[in-house]
Amino acid sequence: MLAFSERTITVSIDTEKCPQCESKACVSACRMYARGILELKDGLPSVAHLDPEGVERGGTECLACEYECRLRGRSAIAIEVPIKGLPEYLKRRGLLRSDGREG
Ligand code: SF4
Repeated sequence: MLAFSERTITVSIDTEKCPQCESKACVSACRMYARGILELKDGLPSVAHLDPEGVERGGTECLACEYECRLRGRSAIAIEVPIKGLPEYLKRRGLLRSDGREG
């Protein structure tokens, strides 16, 4: 598992799915739509060439890696995008389940 933070989001990549992925679409999407912070290292997506500050500074929070991974990869990427006040709003509206998820 690879997890890293950008300015407001957290990207988690289940790298156990990546060896069987032929497209490596996350890396090309990152290069095409953002600043290319994702690189391939030993056949897996990685940000090891950057320190955490470099990842935070270079990440554009574009979500392209997750989209492309779902479309052409193996659905290995999940991006958490916290929205301030959303849980409270959903709770007020009765739209938050007891496990804290929307529903
Ligand atoms: S596109 Fe998805 S499955 Fe393929 S290498 Fe990237 S993260 Fe792994």
